[in-house]
Amino acid sequence: MINLELPKRLKASANQAHQVAAQIFRPVSRKYDLAEHVYPVELDTMAAMVEGLNDSGQGASGAALGRGDEPKKQAGNVNGGNMASLLNVIETCWGDVGLTLSIPYQGLGNSAIAAVATDEQLERFGKVWASMAITEPSFGSDSAAVTTTAVLDGDEWVLNGEKIFVTAGERSTHVVVWASVDRSKGRAAIKSFVVPRDAPGLSVARLEHKLGIKASDTAVLVLDNCRIPKDNLLGSPEVNVEKGFAGVMQTFDNTRPIVAGMAIGVARAALEELRGVLAEAGVEVSYDVPACNQHAAAAEFLALEADWEAAYLQALRAAWMADNKQPNSLEASISKAKAGRTGTAVTLKAVELAGTYGYSERPLLEKWARDSKILDIFEGTQQIQQLIIARRLLGLSSAELK
Ligand SMILES: Cc1cc2nc3c(=O)[nH]c(=O)nc-3n(C[C@H](O)[C@H](O)[C@H](O)COP(=O)(O)OP(=O)(O)OC[C@H]3O[C@@H](n4cnc5c(N)ncnc54)[C@H](O)[C@@H]3O)c2cc1C
Repeated sequence: MINLELPKRLKASANQAHQVAAQIFRPVSRKYDLAEHVYPVELDTMAAMVEGLNDSGQGASGAALGRGDEPKKQAGNVNGGNMASLLNVIETCWGDVGLTLSIPYQGLGNSAIAAVATDEQLERFGKVWASMAITEPSFGSDSAAVTTTAVLDGDEWVLNGEKIFVTAGERSTHVVVWASVDRSKGRAAIKSFVVPRDAPGLSVARLEHKLGIKASDTAVLVLDNCRIPKDNLLGSPEVNVEKGFAGVMQTFDNTRPIVAGMAIGVARAALEELRGVLAEAGVEVSYDVPACNQHAAAAEFLALEADWEAAYLQALRAAWMADNKQPNSLEASISKAKAGRTGTAVTLKAVELAGTYGYSERPLLEKWARDSKILDIFEGTQQIQQLIIARRLLGLSSAELK
């Protein structure tokens, strides 16, 4: 029998994340939307809290995945770090997506480290705040087109290239950089490297102005003969042409359900706000009467809520599979595709159904519509997720289905 009740342990940490969202993020959400690139001082309180939670073994309140956070066995099922991170990120993004992306020590690079690092590296990099730098001026979706190079020089890697649109690229303490160790060997030679932000040769060229998630810093990073220790290459240095770049791609199995969770969180915020607006306007949403017999706005609300529920369940499945060591690349992409488009559809429809009030800056509805768009773009766009899903279902390689 399927039991969709969340375990007590996970509920407790999600409740804690909700308190953070309600008490710290929501009150300053509009402030940092209007003050792009201003450092949210509230993050300092967050840093102390996250450190406290980690030290007390209660895990993270944001997006990072603790591979070291051993899951608890319960009657053959496991609910571990991936599930906890998903539930927590849903809550913090209910508060604010941009601020969630700025929570110290919870970067997407931390998930990459958790997915690919050796045990020794996990020990060394377990407590850093890592952003993730894949995208370059010459490509976005085609992750195999990395042109940044890494050349071994004695005990150090020397990195050269430019990375753009790096979330938390300025604020993080470390950056996980994708670079090729041998461009003649194609995608198999792409490896990820942990680069300290103060490494010689690494600089922030500029910060981007954006449509949404304005509280999050998005940086252009330049690597100019940037030197890092040899053992900062994550995972195996071996270039295995047979395996392609499966190693670094594993990162996405962990991060995609989390990004799905971000979209689910912001969409829930919009649904809650919309329900209030409809109630004020005298529109009752009933679960006992067929939608076609209700007010048109109530029927639309029910359809949005059903879509949201489907997205939520897909994300739970992908995270649960990751915790239970089941291959989840297909489900991770399904969850990201479903939640990404549900997030944008729900938040935009909420603006529409709330009328002029929804379009104004009085509630946060228009902000959530802007914030949610990126969640259908980064960590693989809607179209790329659909491509991956089609390849997996049809058993076709990336060369066979482009
Ligand atoms: C705010 C923000 C934050 C970001 N943060 C990060 C970060 O932290 N780290 C990082 O590395 N990157 C980050 N990115 C970059 C992001 O991952 C890329 O924007 C994304 O991968 C898409 O790449 P692109 O923008 O170059 O679009 P392109 O790859 O040029 O695609 C343009 C359009 O074509 C579609 N398309 C492309 N290929 C196909 C295909 N084969 N079939 C069908 N349609 C296709 C895409 O879906 C898209 O709609 C960020 C971007 C933004 C805007």
